[in-house]
Parts: sequence; C-alpha cells; structure tokens
Amino acid sequence: MSDTEQLPLFSELGLAAPVLKALQDVGYERPSPIQAAAIPHLMAGHDLLGQAQTGTGKTAAFALPLLSRLEAGNRNTQILVLAPTRELALQVTQELISFNTHDLSIAPIYGGASMTEQLRRLKKGIDIVVGTPGRILDHIRRGTLDLSAIAYLVLDEADEMLNMGFIEDIEEIMHAMTGPKRVLLFSATMPDRIAALARNYMHEP
Ligand code: AMP
Repeated sequence: MSDTEQLPLFSELGLAAPVLKALQDVGYERPSPIQAAAIPHLMAGHDLLGQAQTGTGKTAAFALPLLSRLEAGNRNTQILVLAPTRELALQVTQELISFNTHDLSIAPIYGGASMTEQLRRLKKGIDIVVGTPGRILDHIRRGTLDLSAIAYLVLDEADEMLNMGFIEDIEEIMHAMTGPKRVLLFSATMPDRIAALARNYMHEP
C-alpha cells in the first residue's frame, strides 16, 4: 500500500458538506499528511501549532476546517490570516475563495496597495481578512479594522514574518485582540521567538 492509500478520505475528517462539495469541484482527491492530521484537530476547536513547509498543503489544512466551522458571513471580520508577503497573502486569499461555499467576503489587505480601496472594502465589511502585519496594524491603529468578532487568528509562515522584522507588529496585533479566539501558527522552523509566541498566546496547541 502506498502512503497515499493509508491516508483517510476528506469525507472522514468531519468537514461540512458544502466544503466537501467545493473540494470535489477543486479536484483534490486525498488529504495530504498535514491535512489529515490538522483537520480533525481544528474541527474539534483546538489551537494548532504546525511545523510545515510550503507545498505540503498547509493552506487547505486550515482553510477547509475554518470554512466548515464558520457561521454564515455577517461582514464582521471573523478570521484574520497574517502572512509575510503580498504574494502569499494573495495565494491564501485565492485558495480560501476556491473553497468559499457560503458567500463569505474574503479579501487581501497588504502594504503597498491603495489605502482608499482597502478602506472602502473594510467599510463594507470583510469576513476573512488575509494581510501582511504592517498594513494590518496600520488599519487597527486607525480604527478601520475591527477585531472584536475575530474567532480565528492564523499566522502563516511565522518564521518568515520573524525574518522580515514583523514580530513586534504581530505581538501588537495579538495584544489588540481581546475576545476569545483560536490561534493557528504555521512555521517551517521553530526559532525561540516563535516558540515563545506559541507559549504566550496559544492554548494547549
Ligand atoms: P500549500 O502548501 O498550501 O502552499 O499548497 C501547495 C499546493 O498543493 C497548492 O497549489 C494546493 O492547491 C495544492 N494542494 C493542497 N492540498 C492538496 C490536496 N489534498 N490534493 C491535491 N493538491 C493539493
């Protein structure tokens, strides 16, 4: 039996029916190892610390269960994903949109892009914001991104964000979130500063 055959089916991981339907449309047949491990854990409502490289399917590993658990869109930001670069933010946004089964508003908010357009979209309301730390913090300080309804914070490629000098921004963003939320942290490596972030801000990941 090959490795792939030993992995469960997507239908065995507890995902919501509309998300399973979207998976068929996208054409993924079997979960990758990180997806098989992470999805049931996230469906059970736990924090997640994932040591994963790009290319392992880590985006769908959080996108599928979070979309399965999300209430219908209400245009209050419920998920905030932080990514190191504009390219990754766009890629994650595209993947979330491809599994978007219940008409959620999903948008990237990154530095270097027009503030006017971002302010217009934020004013209309975005259910899932995927952003780079500097620009997200800018919106939080201006009061244009409301964090009071956030249910999930996802830190994607956390070690890259550390390398790019975003760690203080991330800590400030995490401080600004006062409500109850689940934290998901993905990192290819686990430097001390990232491990400390996990210890301080995550609950039994
Ligand atoms: P990521 O590690 O999230 O950057 O994903 C790497 C690539 O694998 C992306 O292009 C995904 O669209 C694709 N992918 C993720 N999960 C699966 C899967 N279960 N089956 C086939 N392709 C996948």
